[in-house]
Amino acid sequence: MAFDSVDQYRTHLKNYAIQEGFEIHRLKNERTRVTIICANGGCPWRIHVSPAADGKTFIVKSYTDRHTCSGRKTKIAAANSRWAASKLAPHIKANPSMTIKSIHAMMRVQCGLKPSNQQLYRARMMAKEDIEGNHVKSFAQLLAYLELVDQYNPVTVIKIEFVERQDMNENPMFKRLFVCFKACIKGFLQGCKPFIGLWGNFLAATTSDGDNDLFPVAFGVVEVERKDSWMWFLVCLYIALQSEVDYVPHSTFMPDKQKVTKCIFLNLCNIEIYLWVAAKAYTLADLQKAMVEMKDISVDAHDWLMKNPPSRWSRHAFDQGAKIDHVTNNMTESFNQWIAPYRDKPIVNLIDQLKVQLMTRFQKRYASACTFKGTITPAVRKRLDSIERAAWGYTGYAAGLYEFEVNDKDHTVVVKLADRTCIV
Ligand SMILES: [Zn+2]
Repeated sequence: MAFDSVDQYRTHLKNYAIQEGFEIHRLKNERTRVTIICANGGCPWRIHVSPAADGKTFIVKSYTDRHTCSGRKTKIAAANSRWAASKLAPHIKANPSMTIKSIHAMMRVQCGLKPSNQQLYRARMMAKEDIEGNHVKSFAQLLAYLELVDQYNPVTVIKIEFVERQDMNENPMFKRLFVCFKACIKGFLQGCKPFIGLWGNFLAATTSDGDNDLFPVAFGVVEVERKDSWMWFLVCLYIALQSEVDYVPHSTFMPDKQKVTKCIFLNLCNIEIYLWVAAKAYTLADLQKAMVEMKDISVDAHDWLMKNPPSRWSRHAFDQGAKIDHVTNNMTESFNQWIAPYRDKPIVNLIDQLKVQLMTRFQKRYASACTFKGTITPAVRKRLDSIERAAWGYTGYAAGLYEFEVNDKDHTVVVKLADRTCIV
């Protein structure tokens, strides 16, 4: 057996010992000769290598391939976190969300090892850093990267904030980052609904395009999600939008608070049903009916809900200017899933990969829009068709240019198209 260098030999022996489950001890460890024995005292296993005649290649000069020590070990000192990271790297590259449980199974099956959880957490972090770069280094590269973005995509609005320094000789420490790409600013202002869903944790503003599809507007990385970091994010968003237009359009904002409401009602199934009926009501009459039924079950739930103006939670009272009738913030949840593979990456990789994702998404939407026919987008057309089918059982009688009396067998409603109202 021959090795190209002494280092190659050392690595090979280390992997072999881990694979076979025994500790090694380097009896001689020099550039010109290396003798390794089994670390278990008295065990005869031993290997000795030294350079061949060419002076470069290392060859095995003597080898005793026999152990008298008992049983293989499942914890080997040489199989440390760094070693485990090198084994893990190809797997983590293929599956970045690999769980500690899966890594345990892999180590057990492939190497016969049972490392501690802590060791595997460290190894997984090292493997990710090997693949994606180090977080600290990435923050150091951030300013250079942002300068490049500014150079090649000048309308993009990027705001970065550092922790206030007592001593100006200290290195600046990152606090917050806001990014709103040029295409997102223009796309929102020119082709989306004046509605913005806000999503916390990794701060983000998203909206819905003309075909009711998710359209990310801006994102931010902050030290912690709280009122002042949100205020900073929203001011940055306003500045970004204002950089393109003199007057930022009146927009409706939906914060990520639906979970709170859901938790309050989680154990009260019937109340939750009426809550959603009330929230999804298209008319005041539907809302009032649901609220009466809710009151029969719980006066407290009814009173708590009525303290909040229906314009904030019931569809029939929403601001029509938003041109959207979502009662949940599921749109921002989709954004969460969309960014999930990238959120743990070092900051420069994160911004760059989100940029690539956005480019890919916008290009697909553009290509799809090029095939549209007419003035109504496909998703909206589908919805109109469905509403049209649902209206087959109704008859409308004109009572003026924009007013109709509409009835089925049991009900009559007054529809005023000019006011966009439907009164029972
Ligand atoms: Zn041995």
